[in-house]
Amino acid sequence: MAGRSQASAGELLELVRSGRATTRGALQQATGLSRATVGQRLDRLFRAGWLREGAGGPVDSPLGGRPSITLEFDALHAVVLAADLDTRHARAAVLSLAGELLAERTGTLVIEDGPESVLGELGGWFAGLLAEAGHGAAEVCGIGLAVPGPVDRVTGRVVQPPIMPGWDGYDLRGRLSRAYTEHTGGPAVPVLVDNDANLMAYGEQRTGHPDCSAFVLVKVSTGIGAGVVVGGSIYRGIDGGAGDIGHIRVGADAQCRCGSYGCLAAVASGGAVARRLTEAGVPAASGSDVRDLLAAGHPEATALAREAGRRVGDVLATVVTLLNPGVLMIAGDLAGTPFLTGVRELLYQRALPRSTAHLDVVTSRLGERAGLIGAGMLVVEYLYAPARVEERLLALGV
Ligand SMILES: [Zn+2]
Repeated sequence: MAGRSQASAGELLELVRSGRATTRGALQQATGLSRATVGQRLDRLFRAGWLREGAGGPVDSPLGGRPSITLEFDALHAVVLAADLDTRHARAAVLSLAGELLAERTGTLVIEDGPESVLGELGGWFAGLLAEAGHGAAEVCGIGLAVPGPVDRVTGRVVQPPIMPGWDGYDLRGRLSRAYTEHTGGPAVPVLVDNDANLMAYGEQRTGHPDCSAFVLVKVSTGIGAGVVVGGSIYRGIDGGAGDIGHIRVGADAQCRCGSYGCLAAVASGGAVARRLTEAGVPAASGSDVRDLLAAGHPEATALAREAGRRVGDVLATVVTLLNPGVLMIAGDLAGTPFLTGVRELLYQRALPRSTAHLDVVTSRLGERAGLIGAGMLVVEYLYAPARVEERLLALGV
């Protein structure tokens, strides 16, 4: 192909993984490489154990001639570890490279105990999960971590997190890597850290809405945050602060956990609804308590969730006008019919019809696992990106 540099092994892998070209003939056609060159590059991927021949048998070749064997990414040649931290509980898992859960654990881990203790304990969880899944530490290719605060992409550190006291600027990657090595005896692996709403959005977009080029997810649990996926990539902004809509001032006088007054999260989060219920004589300590009350159809919880939805919908009218997304997904403890009804009431009233004409307002598909699955996918996309494949193949000696 004139005017095009030759496709690398990483680019061939990308074509196979995405399903755009899954036979030798299709790869030749997609890249313009000769049959021999495609063969050489595929051999390296086979020797690394990353590719295998598909179980489906031969299919017709686009170039004619003999039917071709299909190729597929071997999603079990390595595993990923992922964890999603919330303010009072955590979820961790061993995942295949295709995002399939191989072992999972949930339990109490309190953010306020600080990163040293929380991440140390997480290292122990990972060791137990690997044993349960029947995979050794040598098979782990990376770790993904979702946290409920803004993350600086370059340093992997959280930046002035309103609901993570003691975590500001802490070296999360270093601590988690150390804890993982101490507990498993495995070699150090890459650790990627991102905001939970970002990773939930990524996981949901990739698995449920892969063709949606502008996707917004709003997480409403103890706090409120949004994740934006544009053109298949997480949009983080300049400092990782994109989507932190929970601390937009909406003019109320309630004090927020961030110390300011009048934040959206102070009036419309799961925490805020829990506080109002408690004041009304219905004890609720957190967003998850509110979720339980909503599931039971509690009338006051239902009314307050709808009101919270209206507050959030008002802010989302601006978000939708700015980004014109195809999907707006509501996730978290409050995501249910009353809250969604409130969101729709204000959103369609305040946003321009043109911004909402093709907008789907939906609830989460992956539920509580969205952040975990997104964290795993982020690690896989990072490690198997064409730009990184060459150096990793060389490190493997193939
Ligand atoms: Zn605030």
